[in-house]
Amino acid sequence: MEHPENSAEFEGLTVNSGVGPVSIVNPYLKRGRFARRQLTAGDYVEGILRGDVSVLGQAVTLVESTNPAHQVIAQEVIEKCLPYSGKSIRVGISGVPGAGKSTSIDEFGIHVLKEHGGRLAVLAIDPSSERTKGSILGDKTRMEKLSVHPDSFIRPSPSAGSLGGVARKTRETIILCEAAGFDKIFVETVGVGQSETACHSMVDFFLLIQLAGTGDELQGIKRGIMEMADGIVINKCDGNNVDKCKLAATQFRNALQLFPKPESNWEPKVLTYSGFYAIGIKEIWDMIYEYIDFVKKNGYFEFRRAEQSKYWMYESINEQLRNNFYQNPTIADLLKAAEKSVLDGQRSSFVAAKQLLDSYFALLH
Ligand code: GDP
Repeated sequence: MEHPENSAEFEGLTVNSGVGPVSIVNPYLKRGRFARRQLTAGDYVEGILRGDVSVLGQAVTLVESTNPAHQVIAQEVIEKCLPYSGKSIRVGISGVPGAGKSTSIDEFGIHVLKEHGGRLAVLAIDPSSERTKGSILGDKTRMEKLSVHPDSFIRPSPSAGSLGGVARKTRETIILCEAAGFDKIFVETVGVGQSETACHSMVDFFLLIQLAGTGDELQGIKRGIMEMADGIVINKCDGNNVDKCKLAATQFRNALQLFPKPESNWEPKVLTYSGFYAIGIKEIWDMIYEYIDFVKKNGYFEFRRAEQSKYWMYESINEQLRNNFYQNPTIADLLKAAEKSVLDGQRSSFVAAKQLLDSYFALLH
């Protein structure tokens, strides 16, 4: 470009033509040179047993993967971690959206780590997470204090479709966390029914968070969920809500009296607290530790864990049988035709199902 300053008029002043901007990236740096090496099952196990949270996180991603090759490594890692698992307290925490689960878990976690030491993993089972893109624990910032605590590990719900699949992955993640030295596990679940059953089948203590409402709170919860609870806690017992919470607690206590005594012989307790103002947190955890002592002494702790292992064996068989059926390419083709014939009214649902299953069993021979 011709610069006017270079004219004779401004003699003595020379402006050089500029040079292009220099790249801020080192052109000699080869891409991929430091790419992450694919870990072997042995590497994962070694890292997990060392308590390395980064390796643990990668192993959990592997467990959650639907890629068959990843699953092979994941199962090997789980198998090898199994002997190091089991030495923890597992607590399920359930409540409808808005009950204050995240606020409470943040406080519970900080309290437990401060009073009892150790390391805490917070996991979740959320069957809706595929649709809502992870509504619970989806955003780690919801647990402000725990998410920056050096002894905590927070993992959102796997989004694996069926509830059975999601729950199995959470259970497998518990094994990995325990092998990595996490001796306290929280499993958060959203209070909508089936996910409670799945959560209950992998924890030692099932805590139900409730809210005081209009005086007819009991109508809203299914009896089955209340029966599963080892403790019911009424949140938001603060400000002008205290009386309502106390009343709700009495109603829950009365309702629990009508239920048969649980197998554990433990009488579920009802407490009130405020997660937001951190009031009554200690009482809840004293209750949970009292329960753990109680069931360890009477043998129920071990019994429940053994029953849970049995349950998960059957769940695993069911899930794999189902997957094997639906993922069979021949069946996948036949299914489409069968579905159409059922919709067109040419075949009954039962006949179509029987024909498909017969074809499947024939393929197995
Ligand atoms: P989640 O959907 O069950 O995880 O519920 P959140 O923890 O997100 O809480 C839902 C809302 O209730 C938030 O606006 C919280 O600030 C509020 N909240 C939670 N705990 C308390 C409490 O103890 N007292 C009061 N007053 N509000 C609370």
